Formats: sequence, structure tokens, C-alpha cells
Amino acid sequence: MAYPYLFTPIDINGMELKNRIVMTAMHLGYTPEGTVTDRLIDFYALRARGGVGLIIVGGCVIDEYGGMSSMIGLSDDRHVPGLRKLVDAVKGNGAKIAAQLYQAGRYTHSAMIGGRKPFSASAVRSKFTGETPRALDIEEIPGVQDRFAEAAERAKRAGFDAVEVLGSAGYLISQFLSPVTNRREDRYGGPLENRMRFGIEVVEKVRKAVGPDYPIIMRLAGNDFMEGGCTNVEAGIFAKALEKAGVDLFNITGGWHETRVPQLTMNVPRGAYVYLAQGIKAKVKKPVLASNRINDPDMAEEILRNGEADMITMARALLTDPDLPRKAQEGKSHLIYHCIACNQGCFDEIFNLRPATCLVNPMAGREAEVLIEPAEKPKKVLVIGGGVAGMKAACVAAERGHNVSLAEQTSRLGGQILLNRLVPGREEMATTAGDLARNLENSGVEIMLNKRADIAFVKKMNPDAIIVATGARPMRPQIPGVEKDHVVQAWDVLDGKRGVGQKVVVVGGNAVGLETALYLAGIGTLSPEILHFLMTSNAESMETIFELLNRGSKEVTVIEMIRKAGKDIGLSTRWTIMAELRRLGVTIMTGTTAVAITEEGVEIEKEDGKGFLPADSIVLAAGSSSENGLLNELEGLAPEIYTIGDAKAPRKAIEAIREGFEVGITV
Ligand code: SF4
Repeated sequence: MAYPYLFTPIDINGMELKNRIVMTAMHLGYTPEGTVTDRLIDFYALRARGGVGLIIVGGCVIDEYGGMSSMIGLSDDRHVPGLRKLVDAVKGNGAKIAAQLYQAGRYTHSAMIGGRKPFSASAVRSKFTGETPRALDIEEIPGVQDRFAEAAERAKRAGFDAVEVLGSAGYLISQFLSPVTNRREDRYGGPLENRMRFGIEVVEKVRKAVGPDYPIIMRLAGNDFMEGGCTNVEAGIFAKALEKAGVDLFNITGGWHETRVPQLTMNVPRGAYVYLAQGIKAKVKKPVLASNRINDPDMAEEILRNGEADMITMARALLTDPDLPRKAQEGKSHLIYHCIACNQGCFDEIFNLRPATCLVNPMAGREAEVLIEPAEKPKKVLVIGGGVAGMKAACVAAERGHNVSLAEQTSRLGGQILLNRLVPGREEMATTAGDLARNLENSGVEIMLNKRADIAFVKKMNPDAIIVATGARPMRPQIPGVEKDHVVQAWDVLDGKRGVGQKVVVVGGNAVGLETALYLAGIGTLSPEILHFLMTSNAESMETIFELLNRGSKEVTVIEMIRKAGKDIGLSTRWTIMAELRRLGVTIMTGTTAVAITEEGVEIEKEDGKGFLPADSIVLAAGSSSENGLLNELEGLAPEIYTIGDAKAPRKAIEAIREGFEVGITV
């Protein structure tokens, strides 16, 4: 077997799991008013069919104070019939299912609970909501704990195989555990022993409600990553006490929502927080799950083989590719579409109060609505352009039985998304290009590289349908001096075609401009390998190491006309890029326009007057325009002609892939 550790069954207090892959809970926004919908059922049924061992759904809101109305409801018996349908669908497709018991405490917005004040251990303002909760009176505590137990009993009644108590990420149980948010002076505050009491009593009550032979999972932060908060040491002590109280499985994740240590963004290395699970595993006897940024079966297998954890979780990885477990088991790992931690389709959509989808998987959240069905009549389809839009269209069209050819004028597939591969922390974007390329080859598409599709070529191909996916080209702003030799396009810098001098001004503070600045500012800093070597050899002082890590060889300034740089970057990711730019000493000037370029630098205009920025090189990141000159000439050369992706209008990869998919199922 390809992955002997990953596909070894495990028993969790009577719950037989066929493998070690757990789809952990994620908020999807498919349950308006908390009621289970067909959309939610179809979503999870497909993941169950894909081979995952256990699906944990949630957060499931256990009371009227704990969370948003669009989360799955578990606070009342009226939720049970819907939940039963969900349970039946998942079990019927071969997976086990658990419900996550969610109480967010001070992470609840008052607007989401009818304007009432959320509660917590103490009245400590939440940076996440910007609000200050009220402290629970000691007499109220048993009632709050009882809601966990009642919800657990309800979940069992609805047919769930297990429950997960949510005690991580800064939610209510962690608010009691942490001295940052627990300032109480009664038996629930003060020393660790007292701060653990709330969570332990919750588990004891849940155990009493569900009986001895029913699995209880506990999700814990392996380290809060909050100044003055709990580390892996306190988490280990808490886990040990919880084990005694009745926990059967520990799901170990990273820090709180308020932490400034990135948890789920692309710059978090794959498997970065496995060490936290390993720390807990050393303290408890019950099995431990490792979480966060595990998106590949090879990595999952390695974690298990090394004994760092007993099981692994994948949530976004299965949003992206529901068939990941099945592909791994059938020896088709090369066809897996990986989650790239972009958050564009999932978390950013949720933050904007829209249902989750996925950049890589346009079917996510529309499982029953869009189907890849065999074409009525196979056609000869010509796709022009091998970026992500063209590749997606070609894959889907071929899957439907069409005879597809793809012509790409360069020597490689991927297009603009490959520009990220040199940018520190953004390299994962290029993974999607590789995944699409391997699926393209597998689907039998004729791939023609270094093939410029001119009219003669198109006539010779004589297609029934042409899909124009020729992408975009960078724009050249009308600034006097823009034609000078020391002015380069950001795309050429990111593609490794052009180098730059020591002092650099980037014109344009959009995503491309900031990513280019990140790449340039990182040049000359320590690589991970050299950092490891210097530290393990004790070669330099920590002061020198920090200096070498945070300062590169270039001085980079970004100028942006509007008042906010990186406006086109999603909420979940923008702060991490801005923090990295700050760390590397990049100067960002907003409300600033380049008015002329000279041999010595850039003349600028700001609200408070004019200025001059000396520079050896000027990098242009002024947006892009569609590359679709061929389109007019194609008229009449095929009965069906489609234009997709940036060739239609320059946008993000999520739109390009979605359009490729839509054309693929339409053609
Ligand atoms: Fe992963 Fe991005 Fe898809 Fe979210 S949108 S599941 S982060 S690939």
C-alpha cells in the first residue's frame, strides 16, 4: 500500500475509523439560520465518498450566546431532524461523523446575538471583535457548562459518532484557561489549576451526558501564541487533566485568532505546527491529531511514520480536493489538487459573510448544482493559452469526452500564477499550476508548448470550439521617462528575466507591487538552510542573526496613488504581507503619485507637496490589460468561440479558474 500509516484503521473509544485522515470543522456559511441544508449535506456526502475517515462538522452553536446564526445549530431539539439527515448522508457514504461543540465567548460579536453582550471569564476587550465582554457570575457557570452537555446528548441522539469540545483558538474554554483573559479571583481564576477547572468540568458534564462508551474529542491550542498566554507546557498539563476527565482524542492546533503569529496563511510552512501535537503526545496516552497546513498525503504519512502524531487533520485540503484520500489510496497522488492556503475562496469569503468556495475547486459549495457530465456530442476543442484558466477549461472539457488540444506560446504551463514562485511565502501559488498540468496530461489533452496560435494554425486545426485564454500583459503607465533602461516591469523581475540595482522604487502598491517588493527586500537575507546552520553551529550572536534575517541587500520603497496599499489582497492574508514588508524594512508611501522618472530616480507628488526618491531601478506594477488581439481575427473560424480569464478582463486566479471551469462544462 502506498501509505501504510495513513490507511491503518484506529479505534477511538469504540469508534472504528478506517484511516487516519480527519476533516476538521470549518465554518462554511451553508446553514442560514443554523438549519442543515441540502447544500451542506451534498458538500459533506461528497467528502465522505472521497474516502476521509472522520468528518467533524461545525462549529455547532450550543447556546444563544455562542456564535453566528449562519453556523450549524445544536442548541435546540428542533435542529435534530436536519442533523440526522446530514449524519445519514455522511455515514451512508462510508465516513464517521462528529459534531464540534462551539461556544465563542468574547469572540462573539454582539451584533450576531441580537445586540446582547457576549460573556467570558473576565471583562477583557477582544481585539478580534473590538468589544469588551461581561464576566460570567460564578452562579451562571454551571448553566453555561450544561449547554455543552445538552448539545452533546443532542448530537448523540442525532446519530453523530462522536463530539468534539472546542477548547482552542481563543474560544470560551481557552478564555478561562489563559491568564490573559481570565482575571477572576474565585475558584475559576488565579493559578493554572483553577483556570483549567471550567474546561475540565465541561468535559466531565459531557461525559456524563453521553455515557462511557462514546468518543469525546478535545480541540486544544498547542500554544496560544499570545503574550502572557499558555504555551505548549500549560497545554500539556491541561491535556493530561482532560484525559482524566474523559477525553479520548486530542486535536492539537496552533494559536488564537488574536495572535500576530500567522496560523493558516500561505507563509506558514506546511506542517509548521506538528511540533505542538508532538509536545502534547509526549504528555498523554490517548491519541493525538496534528493540524494546520497539512495538505498532502506524503507529508501526512511522514508525520505518522515519525510518530509525531497518531492522526492528521485536513479541512481546506478536502475543500480543494474531496477525493484526496481516495487518490492517495489508489496510487494517484500525482492527480491531487492541493490547497494552497490562499484563503481567497474560503476564509476571505466567510469574513465577507458569503458562503465558502475555493480558488482551486470551483465546485466547492455547489456540489449538486454543477456537474461534469459527458458531452452530448464530442467536439474538437482548441484552447489557446496554458495559464490556469486555459488549463482548467481543457481539463474539464476533456473529462466530458471532448477531443481537446491546448496551445501555449511559451515553453511552460502556468502563466501568470508562476510569477509567485520567487516571492517568499507566496511560492505555494505555483502549486496550482503544477496540479493542473499533471491533470491535463492525465486527461489526454494534446499539449503543444512553444506554439503560437496564429490564424494559419487555427485554420489547420479546424476546431468546433475555440477557447481564448491568452491572459494579460503588464501595463506601462504614461509617466515621462518610463522608457528609460533602468525602468523594468514587475512581471519581468518576478520571472527572473531582469535584475535591479540596490536602491529600488516600485511604482504601484497593488498585490503584484507588494509581492515584488517582498521578493526584492528578501534578497540577501538568510535562507532557512543557512539560518539553521548558523544557529546550530552557534556561529553568530543572536543580534547578528536577527540583523541578517531581517535586512537584505536592497533598499525598497513602494509608492501607491490611493491611500491603502494591497487593497486587492484578501483580509486574511494582507496583514501577513504588510507585516513581512515592515520586518524587511520596506517603505510604503500611499497617496503618492510618480510624475516623472529621471536617470537618478522618481519625482513624486503627495498631498503635502512634491518630492524626489533616488533610485537605481524603477519597477512598474501598474496593473495589466487583456491580451486578446487574436480574438477579432478568429471570427468565423469555429462555430463556438469563448474568451475566459484575464483575456476577458484581468482579475484574480479564482475568477480565471472558475471561468475555465464554467466553459469546460458548457462547451
Ligand atoms: Fe485552500 Fe485557497 Fe481553496 Fe481556501 S480557497 S481551500 S485556502 S485553495
